[in-house]
Amino acid sequence: MFGPPGSGKGTQASRVALRLAIPHVAAGDMLRNEVARGTDLGREAKPIMDAGGLVPDDLVVRMINARLNQQDAAKGVLLDGFPRTVPQAVTLDRMLKVRDDYVAEVISLEVPDDELKTRILKRADVEGRSDDTAEGLANRLVVYHQDTWPVLEHYRSVGTRIETIDGVGDIDTITERIVTALRHHGISVTST
Ligand code: ADP
Repeated sequence: MFGPPGSGKGTQASRVALRLAIPHVAAGDMLRNEVARGTDLGREAKPIMDAGGLVPDDLVVRMINARLNQQDAAKGVLLDGFPRTVPQAVTLDRMLKVRDDYVAEVISLEVPDDELKTRILKRADVEGRSDDTAEGLANRLVVYHQDTWPVLEHYRSVGTRIETIDGVGDIDTITERIVTALRHHGISVTST
């Protein structure tokens, strides 16, 4: 699940993963969990996350690789927030290849920047996430356009299927847009 901060990719990924009956692997949630537990990784990641930057690739890659080694990941996972840089994507492709696996599909949620800013500042009031400040957000958008957007180009160049989904609308409608697109590609998705 690919998309800018505030695009709703976390919400959609968890709904779609349920319907695909595979684990939802969310890099941001996993990192926040490390921060909450006060692990070495969490201590290193926290200031970077709060500033809206990216946690170093090697740390994130190690965390995701460990997750993919867990047994419930054997039948596939829905990745959310990873890969977020081209080097992460290249490493992921290698990690999957040794498992005889590959990225089956990229779902790209598209939301205009203005709408993203409104949504995130609203979320800041509700959830109080420590990176949902005006400054953290501005940085995350810059990082997204600079470092993350090229990931899509990477997958386009290696011929991975990319499904572009309009991310503006209500939550159920967007889920149905994604489910419909997956079904068109012969991927079986349960109806609720
Ligand atoms: P959002 O998509 O709203 O920015 P996430 O929960 O996906 O929220 O990510 C929150 C923060 O966690 C990011 O701004 C970044 O600092 C860190 N992070 C998440 N995924 C990655 C990743 N793949 N590589 C590096 N940093 C990451």
